[in-house]
Amino acid sequence: MTITEKTNKHIMQSYGRFSLEIENSKGLIDFGSGIGTNSLGFCDEQWANAVCEQARTLQHTSNLYYTKPAADFAEKLCAVTGYTNAFLCNSGAEANECAIKLARKYSFDKYGAGRNKIVTLNGSFHGRTMTTLSATGQDIMHPDCFAPYMPGFAHIEPNAPIGSFADDVCAVMLEYVQGEGGVISLEQSFVDEVFALCAENDILVIADEVQTGAGRTGAFLAGTHFGKAADITTMAKGLFGGLPGGACLANEKCAGVLTAGMHGSTYGGNPVVMAGGSVVVARVSDAAFLAEVVAKGDYIREFLAKLPQVEAISGRGLMLGLTLKSAKEASSACPAEVALATGVGRTAIEVAKACLEKGLLVLTAKDKLRLLPPLTITYDELDEGLSVLKEILL
Ligand SMILES: *Cc1c(COP(=O)(O)O)cnc(C)c1O
Repeated sequence: MTITEKTNKHIMQSYGRFSLEIENSKGLIDFGSGIGTNSLGFCDEQWANAVCEQARTLQHTSNLYYTKPAADFAEKLCAVTGYTNAFLCNSGAEANECAIKLARKYSFDKYGAGRNKIVTLNGSFHGRTMTTLSATGQDIMHPDCFAPYMPGFAHIEPNAPIGSFADDVCAVMLEYVQGEGGVISLEQSFVDEVFALCAENDILVIADEVQTGAGRTGAFLAGTHFGKAADITTMAKGLFGGLPGGACLANEKCAGVLTAGMHGSTYGGNPVVMAGGSVVVARVSDAAFLAEVVAKGDYIREFLAKLPQVEAISGRGLMLGLTLKSAKEASSACPAEVALATGVGRTAIEVAKACLEKGLLVLTAKDKLRLLPPLTITYDELDEGLSVLKEILL
C-alpha cells in the first residue's frame, strides 16, 4: 500500500488532503510552514539539536514534578511578552480552553455566578474542541451533527461600532488578524473600543495569538502593533517550531486565578517541546529578526501587488492573504489565451494545487490564498516561490 492508501485506510478521513506524500523537505519551497508552525523552517539546526539533546536527557515527567526546560521556557516567554505567568499545554485549542476557564473563574471569584458570557467575533477561529468550536464565530463551523454546542458565547461583528457589552459578559476574545477567517486585520479604532469598554467594566480581553504570535506579524505579539496588551494571551502554532505545544499567558490581574487542581494537562510543559520552544523564543524575539520579518513581508507584497490576478493583499508581516480576481475581472486584465493557459479565475484551492505541482506549498483561508512562510525564509527562497506564484497568477 502507498502512504496515501494506508493513511486513508487507517486514519480517519477528517481532512481534505492534497495528493502529495512528504517524506522530507527536499525540493519543496515552503510558503505554509505547516500552518504557521515551523517558524524556523524545516529542521533548523539549533532547534533540532536542542530537541534531540532533550529527548536523550529527559523526555517527560508529568506536572507532578518540576523540570528545567519548562521553567526556562516560561521565564523567557514572560520576559519577552511582559506577562506574569503561563499555563502550558499542547495546542491552540487547549490554550483557549484555559483562557476561557480562567476568565470565567476571575469573574466568578470577584462578582459571583452568572457573569460568564464570552464575546467573540464573527469570522473568528478558536479551535476544534466543543468549547472552542462554540466560541468560534462562524456558522459554517457549527453543523447540526455536532449539536449541542456550549452555551455562554455571543458573537459580534469585527470592525463595527460596539456601543456596550451586556451585564453578563466576563471576557472578549479576539484575533488581531483573523487567520482561518481569511487573514483579516482588526482596525485600530475597533481594538481601541474593545479595550476601552473592557477596562471600564472589568471585562477581560483575551487575545488569541495562536496564529499571529511568535513573530509571525513582525512583532513577537501582534497586540504590539495596536499598542495593546490583553489580560490573557494564548499562543501555540509557531511558538515551538513545529512541536505540539500551547501557552495561555496571564497578566498580574489573572495570574493567581487558577489554583492547584483547577486545571491541568498531562503533557503540558513537556521537556522536549519546551527545549524547542526556548530556541524559538530566543531567536524570534530579537529586534533585528523581527525587522527582517517585516521587510520580507513588504518584499512579498510589493512583488505580488504587480500580478494581474491579485486583487488585494491583506495581513501583516509574514501572514498574508491574497484576494484573487474573479474570472471576469482577471480576463479583462490579461489576454484570453493567457487566461485559458493559466486558468485565470481559479479558486484559491485550485491555485494552491497548481503551486503544489511546482513544488510550492501555500495555504488558503476562505476564498483567499494564504501565505505563512517560515520566518527564517531567505530572499533566494522567496524569489523561487514568488516566481512560481507569478507563473500561475500572471
Ligand atoms: C490554529 C488556531 C487555533 C487552534 O489551534 P490547534 O493547535 O489546532 O488547537 C486556535 N486559534 C487560532 C487563531 C488558530 O489559528
